Amino acid sequence: MIKNVINMGSYNYLGYGQNTGPVNDAAAEVLSQYGAGVCSTRQEMGNLDKHEELERLVARFLGVESAMAYGMGFATNSMNIPALVGKGCLILSDELNHASLVLGARLSGATIRIFKHNNMQSLEKLLKDAIVYGQPRTHRPWKKILILVEGIFSMEGSIVRLPEVIALKKKYKSYLYLDEAHSIGALGPTGRGAVDYFGLNPEDVDVMMGTFTKSFGSAGGYIGGKKELIDYLRVHSHSAVYATSPSPPVVQQIITSMKCIMGEDGTTIGLGQMMAFDLLTILERL
Ligand code: PMP
Repeated sequence: MIKNVINMGSYNYLGYGQNTGPVNDAAAEVLSQYGAGVCSTRQEMGNLDKHEELERLVARFLGVESAMAYGMGFATNSMNIPALVGKGCLILSDELNHASLVLGARLSGATIRIFKHNNMQSLEKLLKDAIVYGQPRTHRPWKKILILVEGIFSMEGSIVRLPEVIALKKKYKSYLYLDEAHSIGALGPTGRGAVDYFGLNPEDVDVMMGTFTKSFGSAGGYIGGKKELIDYLRVHSHSAVYATSPSPPVVQQIITSMKCIMGEDGTTIGLGQMMAFDLLTILERL
């Protein structure tokens, strides 16, 4: 017996996870051209034109110099954070950060300190202490201080206080890693996430991370930022070196849905969604 139910538990925010429509058709066509699996890593035989096309599009969408795509959102965090920080570095992590950020922080070997959820006094206290006292015992300065936050927190639905976090990271000369799993595509007047929502400059976020599993209805994750950062991750991230490349139809699903959101697909599907979101943003601010 087929039962009609309302799904209140998935993250198919924009409806691109459906099984019909232009996004699906584009993915099906690529499946017939390329097959489903790549069977190699990006560094070996698994670098396809589709991957490069996706990464150029993601960088343009985010307004950053460069981007890299990965086959899994969870691994994007858990495998890239250890490539960015290690022993002698300090991670300042929001208490409600996702498990993938927590695992990445633990695997990195950096010292981890937790600040109260979205609480700027708590974050500033940790930053001040880090600068004043340095590393335990030796009191040497920390090699790097990395702040980890989410755009929209997956557990609470709260929006990060991004302007304040950026001001603090600049004041204390630290780095910012922003996980936009739930905000990319779904937040801001043009769907570019938390930076777009607050009208900020994407360059003020050092590491722009996000997933393709929510608004894009697909699979995988990305990191965006300066070319130097992305070139470094291409060589040093375990998920770039040891994991198989993203599946081509999955990649096409992301490309087509992202182009819809950008209004570059020749239809007004994305435009309608953005107008609806704009209205929500206006209502939220009232
Ligand atoms: N970051 C956040 C904030 C998440 O909520 C999730 C999963 N919901 C991930 C990362 C992991 O992404 P994925 O499910 O695409 O592997």
